[in-house]
Amino acid sequence: MLIQSDYHIHASFYRLKTPDAPIGPTAAEQIAAARAAGSRYVGILEHCNTTKHHPFHCLEELSAEFHSPGFDRRSAFLGVEADLNDDGSDACGKNGREKLLLDYVIGSVHLSPVRVPDVNTYMETEYRRIRNALLHNENINVIGHPFGEGFRYERAGIVPKWGFHLIPRRWLDELIGLAVNSGKALEINRCDPEDPVYCDFLMCLRDSGAWFSIGSDAHSAAGVAAAKTRTQWLDSLGFREEHHWRVRT
Ligand SMILES: [Zn+2]
Ligand SMILES: [Zn+2]
Repeated sequence: MLIQSDYHIHASFYRLKTPDAPIGPTAAEQIAAARAAGSRYVGILEHCNTTKHHPFHCLEELSAEFHSPGFDRRSAFLGVEADLNDDGSDACGKNGREKLLLDYVIGSVHLSPVRVPDVNTYMETEYRRIRNALLHNENINVIGHPFGEGFRYERAGIVPKWGFHLIPRRWLDELIGLAVNSGKALEINRCDPEDPVYCDFLMCLRDSGAWFSIGSDAHSAAGVAAAKTRTQWLDSLGFREEHHWRVRT
């Protein structure tokens, strides 16, 4: 049985918003919600990138809450979700990690049809960034939602149906192999039994010996429940706890 854990939970209180936008949850609120939803190990984070909503001082404020005296940090950890660059480096870097006293770093690719209209360019860019991060980046521990932005191209009408059949198979096999060699985890945050190529990718990941991590990517307290559904699905697919990534303390 897999132990339910979730290292991809946003404390969206710590981001710049328009005055009428809802106030997001704090780290304490998200940890409480995740524990109530059944996650034993809980990781709180926010984005680290160059967009105007996520200036570095927001991460410093999140870190200050997490490290404040009396904060309940039992089986709870602090990370960031840092955008990956083409060369595989990440927006947080070793200095940012030390400054924020982070337990882990998730490296992700965030692209959309607005920034990259061509779906092939999107896939090539994501592949290149993940590959280089697995090969060269010592700062990150987990690759966040590989090719997870692809559904945006379906929503925008650029592809009739998004699925892993669009991604060259040799890329997927290579990334799993690089994950094994690097000791970094690949994050799973999508349940899609209807995508046979995605399911086959998951089977290869399961059998490879690579670390995997299950994330809700929750931006609200209600969103943390997704970790339970995804954990149950991966349990039914035969994923084993011995390869389930966690922060080593
Ligand atoms: Zn993300
Ligand atoms: Zn996220």
